[in-house]
Amino acid sequence: MANEILIVGSVALDSVKTPFGEVKEALGGSATYASYSASFFTSVRLVGVIGEDFPKEHIGLLKDKGIHIEGLQVAKGKTFRWAGSYEYDLNEAHTLATELNVFETFKPKIPAEYKKSDFVFLANIDPDLQLSVLDQVEKPKLVACDTMNLWIRIKPDALKKVIKRVDFLFINEGEARQFANTSSLVKAGRILQSWGPKHVVIKKGEHGALLFGQNTFFAAPAFPLEDVYDPTGAGDTFAGGFFGYVAQQGGDISDVTLRRAVVFGTAMASFTVEKFSLERLKTLTMEQISSRVRILKELSHFDQP
Ligand code: AMP
Repeated sequence: MANEILIVGSVALDSVKTPFGEVKEALGGSATYASYSASFFTSVRLVGVIGEDFPKEHIGLLKDKGIHIEGLQVAKGKTFRWAGSYEYDLNEAHTLATELNVFETFKPKIPAEYKKSDFVFLANIDPDLQLSVLDQVEKPKLVACDTMNLWIRIKPDALKKVIKRVDFLFINEGEARQFANTSSLVKAGRILQSWGPKHVVIKKGEHGALLFGQNTFFAAPAFPLEDVYDPTGAGDTFAGGFFGYVAQQGGDISDVTLRRAVVFGTAMASFTVEKFSLERLKTLTMEQISSRVRILKELSHFDQP
C-alpha cells in the first residue's frame, strides 16, 4: 500500500484516575493511541521503544490490528510510565508522575524501508527526538506533529524547530494559548501558523476542534456523549484518525478532505473516552465510526433562512 504512515511516539503503561474509576499500568502512549486509530484508515508503521517488562498481550493487540511493529525497539530496562488524574473538568489532565525509563536513552532508528514513508506523524515525545526522526526520513509528502505542555515549558526552541518543518500541528487549546502567549484561540491558531505549519488543529476536548488551514477555517463540535469515562489518549486518537484519513486520501489537502478529516478524528476520539486505555477501540468497527460521522453531520448542519 502506498499510503502508509510512519508514526513515532511513546508506547506507555499509564496509571490513570478519573472521578469514575482508575486503572494501573494500562496500555497507553501517544504512538499507541495514534497508531491504533490511524490503522482504521491506512497501513501504519510504528516506531518507539518499550522495556523488557512490556506485556506480550499488548504487542499481540497491535499486531492483530495489522500495525507494523518492526520499528518498535525493545530496550533493557522498564517501559515508559505516565500517571495522571482528572477532576470533573475532564479537559485538563494533571500529570502525577512521568517515568522516562527506556526513553532516557532512546534514539529513534527509522528502518530503511520506513524512511521512504509518504506520511509521517510525530506523536507527542521530546521535540529533539521528533527532530531526529525528521532528519532521517527522505521525502515525505506530509508531516504532522503533536506536543504537550511539558515541552512547551522546557524545550520551546526545539519545539519551534519541529513545527517549522511540519504541514500539520495538533495542539490542545490550553497549550495553544500557552505557546502563542495569547488568550484568543483564533489569534493563537494564526500565530502558530505563522511559525511554519501550513495547518494548525486546535483540540478543545468536549468543545470540539478548530482547523486553521491555508484557505480554510473550520469548527467542528465534539460528539455529544453523556458519559465520558477517561479522556486519556483522546488527542492522540483524534490526530491518528485525522491524519490516517488524509493519508488514505493520498495526502489530498483540499478543503473537503480536511473538514472530513476533522470529523473522522472527532468520531475516533469519542470512542476512546468511553472506556479506559484502548478498551473501546479494541471492539470498534468501521460501521460504528461511520454512524457517528453521520450524526456529527446532522448535528452541525443548518439551512440559512
Ligand atoms: P492525550 O492524547 O493528550 O490524552 O495523551 C495521553 C498519552 O500521552 C498517555 O497515554 C501518556 O502515556 C502519553 N504521555 C504523557 N506524557 C508524555 C511524555 N512526556 N512524553 C510522551 N508521551 C507522554
